[in-house]
Order: sequence, then structure tokens, then C-alpha cells
Amino acid sequence: MDFDKLFNAQLDALKKEGNYRIFAELERQAGAFPKARSHDADCPEQVTVWCSNDYLGMGQHPKVIAAMQEAVARCGCGAGGTRNISGTNHQHKLLEAELADLHHKEAALLFTSGYVSNWAALSTLGSRLPDAVILSDALNHASMIEGIRHARCNKVIWKHNDPEDLDRKLAALPSNTTKIVAFESVYSMDGDVCPMQEIVEVAEKHGAMTYLDEVHAVGMYGPRGGGLSEELGLADRITLIEGTLGKAFGVVGGYVTGSEALCDFIRSFASGFIFTTALPPAVAAAAQTSIAHLKTSDVERKRQKEQVAKLRRRLTQIGIPHLDNPSHIIPVMVKDPVKCRQLADILMQDYGIYVQPINYPTVPKGTERLRFTPGPLHSDADIDHLVMALTTLWKRCAVAHAVA
Ligand SMILES: *Cc1c(COP(=O)(O)O)cnc(C)c1O
Repeated sequence: MDFDKLFNAQLDALKKEGNYRIFAELERQAGAFPKARSHDADCPEQVTVWCSNDYLGMGQHPKVIAAMQEAVARCGCGAGGTRNISGTNHQHKLLEAELADLHHKEAALLFTSGYVSNWAALSTLGSRLPDAVILSDALNHASMIEGIRHARCNKVIWKHNDPEDLDRKLAALPSNTTKIVAFESVYSMDGDVCPMQEIVEVAEKHGAMTYLDEVHAVGMYGPRGGGLSEELGLADRITLIEGTLGKAFGVVGGYVTGSEALCDFIRSFASGFIFTTALPPAVAAAAQTSIAHLKTSDVERKRQKEQVAKLRRRLTQIGIPHLDNPSHIIPVMVKDPVKCRQLADILMQDYGIYVQPINYPTVPKGTERLRFTPGPLHSDADIDHLVMALTTLWKRCAVAHAVA
């Protein structure tokens, strides 16, 4: 049996529609972010990364690097087991306390990634709570969708960022159900932001639990980096806040925060928490240092906002179509998978600008885009160079015709 034939048939179909994913092989250079060394033969050796989720450059912050190195030297590399069997290190407990405080909650629970935290928490809540119904925003992240699917409870999809639709859908449910409203604060592909106050009010009116993914907002918004819920003073009214240590905090890992009972419940029943090796203590130490730093330091957030505003203004000036939104994410709309890939290739090969094309299924077909995330470490010269390249390319590729 030629199994490779089966694999290749589907891969060929993906290539034909322009949705085949090609990864850029990079070597990030601490001390030089957002510069990275490229290991691809047809690219300049040094490139500037314009699509990183290490939004604030905390992955190379001297304090974070030192914390990780110190912890490795002291504790060694791995955690040594699952949390239950010999894997709970002192650093995990310190990090969980840091996270609970960050979100003004009683407790927090660590996972190996944000994906795993959503998958494990939603599937546990949905499968174990009596007559659970999960009401999911139509544009929720794949990790939430997988968690909800795995819960095998009833689910209802409500219109993206539409509290009125949520209200109607909650009102239609029987009163004996346990209702869980799942949504995000910042949606990473369009960079739009949820109407959190309205959603919380609708949920409260119907006695529903709120499950908020703050993955793209933690470290970034709120006076201490506690996310949009902190910025809006709504954290107390959200039942569960989920986040990642891998994006603005610059390390890796995921977590949920909430009441003692909620975290104990997930700790005790979530397969995705119980049956996997705990994060390395050094990772926990680095993440805790990053969080603690961003609780009191605002310079990274400030500078980042300046650079985002600068790039946005410049794109508008030269007539490059980009989605207007209140966040730090700048999606430049190309609306064609093949052109999107071509543009990204030329930017990388001719200009040393790395921006990954975002195609289906990450975004709907016909909305393909380049997603720029300017950070505090992008210089004005980096922005000039990017704007110059886009101006030239926009003419040369006749992309303009494809863009409405
Ligand atoms: C990236 C992402 C996650 C997963 O977080 P990881 O720590 O990268 O696994 C969860 N939710 C959203 C909205 C994300 O964009």
C-alpha cells in the first residue's frame, strides 16, 4: 500500500489552491530583535521579523534571559514529571500566584500552552457541568473550538462581537442549563476588540458564566498588562480568564485564572492538565519575571503603541489597504492566496522583510492578508524600509487590481 500517494494527493490539492504552508527557517538573535538570521538559501542572511507574536520583545529581555539561565543552573532542565507525579516545582507555584494577581483572581492554573489551556478547560467545563451549553463567538480561536467539540455538550454559535445576538441566544435556552459564554478580547486576525462590557452584562442578565481568551491582550493592555479586562475594570466580573505566556510575555505556556474552586475543579478533572509533563521550572521562572516586569514597566507598551500608530499612518498615506482597528495588529489585505504568498516571498527575498502570508483556513478564503505586528524594537528606519518596499511592490505586482 502506497500511503505516501494518499498524503501527496491532499498536499498537491493544497499547493494548487495556494494554501500550502511554507515555514521560514529563522534564528532569532538575542540583543538584535526584531532581526533574525535566515537559513533559507534564497533570502538575505539577516531579515527583519514583522509578524512576531513576541509583541514586546520580552523574549530577549535581559531580566527574562537571566531568570531562565539562573533557574536552569539551579534546577536543571526539565520539570521531572506531571504536576501530580513529582513535577510540581516551586517555580510553578510562584508563577501561578503571579498570574492570579495579574488578573485579580483567587487562583491560576498552568498548562503547557495556551492551546492546551483552552482545549482542556473548555472540554472539562462543558463535559462535567450539569446540562452545559457553550455559547461561542463565531470567530473564536481553533483551540477553543476544539475544546468545545471535545466537551460534546450542546453548543450555540453567536454572531461575532454581537451582544444582541448573544442575548437572544441565551434567552432561548432552558433555565436549567449551565451557560458558558466563550469569547476573546482581541481577535488576532482582524485585530478587532470585543464589546466586553456589553457581553458581560448580557451574560450576567442570564446567569451565564464568562470564559475570556485574553491571549493577544495579556502584557499589552491594562495598567499592569492584565489585558483588556483589566483596562476596562471588568476582570472581577469575568468567571475565567485564559492567557498565554508565549506571546507578549515572550516565553511559552498557557494558563487559566479564576476562583479557587474553579481552578481546583480543572486541576482535578482536566486530562490535558493531568497527563502531561509540567513546564520546565526555568520556563516558569522566565515567564514570572516577564510578567512581573510588565506589571510595573510601561515603556515597552508605550513605544509599541507609537510604532503601531506610525506604521498605520504611513500605510494610509501611501494607500495600502489595511483594516482599521483599535489594537496593535495591522492586517494588510491582499485578498488572494497566490498573490499573498508572492508578495511575502518578494518582501523576504528582495528586501529582507519577513511577514508570513495568512491564508485559509486561518482566515476565510478571499480575505488573505499580510499581518504586521510592529513592536517597541522596530526602529523608525525599519518602518521606512518596509513602507518603501510595499510602495514599490504594490505597483509592480499589480496587486492593486486585486484589491477592492
Ligand atoms: C495563539 C492563540 C492561542 C494559543 O496560545 P499558545 O500559547 O500559542 O498555544 C489561544 N488563543 C488564541 C486566540 C490565540 O491566538
